[in-house]
Amino acid sequence: MPSATNSAQPGFQFFNVIGGKSRSAEEVHQVVDPRTEENLWDVPVATAKDLDDAVEAGLTAFKSWRKSTNADRRDLLLAVRQNMLDNVDELSTILMKETGKSRLMAQVEVERAAFHFEYYADVQLEDEVQFEDADIKIIATHAPYGVIAAISPWNFPLILSAVKIASALATGNCVIIKPSPFTPYTIMKACEFAQSVVPPGVYQVLNGGADLGEQLTLHPGISHISFTGTTNVGKRIMQNASKTLKKVLLELAGNDAAIICEDVDLAEVVPKVAGGCLFHAGQVCVASKRIYVHDSIYDRFLEMLKEEIKKYAITEDPMAPAVFSPLSNKVNYDRCMGIIEDCKKNNYNIVAGGETLSDKKGFWIAPTIVSKPPEDSFLVAEEQFGPVIPLLSWTDEADVIARSNLDNAGLGASVYTPDLTRAQRIAKQLESGTVWINMSERPHHAGWFAGQKLSGVGGEMGKQGLLSYCHTQSIQIAK
Ligand code: NAD
Repeated sequence: MPSATNSAQPGFQFFNVIGGKSRSAEEVHQVVDPRTEENLWDVPVATAKDLDDAVEAGLTAFKSWRKSTNADRRDLLLAVRQNMLDNVDELSTILMKETGKSRLMAQVEVERAAFHFEYYADVQLEDEVQFEDADIKIIATHAPYGVIAAISPWNFPLILSAVKIASALATGNCVIIKPSPFTPYTIMKACEFAQSVVPPGVYQVLNGGADLGEQLTLHPGISHISFTGTTNVGKRIMQNASKTLKKVLLELAGNDAAIICEDVDLAEVVPKVAGGCLFHAGQVCVASKRIYVHDSIYDRFLEMLKEEIKKYAITEDPMAPAVFSPLSNKVNYDRCMGIIEDCKKNNYNIVAGGETLSDKKGFWIAPTIVSKPPEDSFLVAEEQFGPVIPLLSWTDEADVIARSNLDNAGLGASVYTPDLTRAQRIAKQLESGTVWINMSERPHHAGWFAGQKLSGVGGEMGKQGLLSYCHTQSIQIAK
């Protein structure tokens, strides 16, 4: 749990939302603003009693909400969307403070989060006749799970929570969202605002850390866990969920490879790759985390990338329309500085960045490029989740595919070449849930998103994603 005790900033109050009502708590904590290193507002920490009450309210609400029609769900989703958009200024103000994002990035995140509700208003599951003959008719229908616990991380706290909430509501479930204690504020405020348009108990929020997460995964009243976060916590959740055989959806970490072929137009591709590495300072689950450039263009690519990353200079004014941010919290800052220290200790070739910015307030790390670190270095083998780019080279297609396919790289990958036959041949050999061709990794609301191997279990987004939030029930009718 991020600590900090004294002087919270005035201006906003935050509550757990249980059974349609705002509830404070005896224990509070505060988050540190990653730009100023000042404490933000008090946020209540939910107790075991709060959790029991929320589950009970959810189970009560589920009795009616499970019977909602697609038209009812559409109305509710559109009302939540509108409620978010009506409050875009306040939500963006809070979001930029807790994440370190610029105003522009925060506003886009609120609008994209609202869009997930709009998308699922019109993309819904219908009953399907699977088989029919003279003797029998078989219909697949989609029954909600019940009360879903949605557990989200800190890097895109609103969007990643919104995907889960919208998917749960669109399928007739009730949902309790537990944000990361590093970024609890925006989703708590969004849930509080939404109570004016949702029935009590259908959409609730509880703030807490790993302890509360554990309690959610063990609670017998919760039917399903939808989790986004690290692989180790995902494994722990699966273990806990096995005790009550809860269904789990695990969206976990990635170590995405970007493969750049020798026939690319460098002027077009270098900016895309830089964006893939440095958007939100690399704190993106599908950031480009290992860059494999064909050896014949490596030197030119490196020189152009060194120029390109100057566009990701540190912009201390949050009102400037920048897409590069400080690291969102001290824990991740220390982790990433540790990776840079490891590169220095091992004499890897740091060709840009790498310095400590002790003259600046905030958790800033300048864009850093490390040329050809060994494949078994920490920077290449593990997810860096920060603006430190390992730039590697390759000559043989089969070899670069094998190097890309690490067990922890099951989330995403990208391939750059104008030869689309070749790109798709490479993509189909990459063991990743999504492969982007000639673009950096950006999840799309309409595209199924799921990790393979150590990057996850199940998936969400797109129409197929709704199937992760319900049972498919088979109704078999004798003729
Ligand atoms: P994290 O795993 O530390 O925490 C995620 C959430 O789990 C938080 O709400 C946390 O409080 C909660 N939690 C911690 N311990 C728990 C436990 N024992 N039981 C239940 N809940 C528990 O992850 P993070 O640091 O917040 O997020 C960054 C990670 O998330 C990165 O690895 C990133 O790649 C990954 N991520 C994945 C996706 C995806 O869609 N696959 C998207 C964004 C981030």
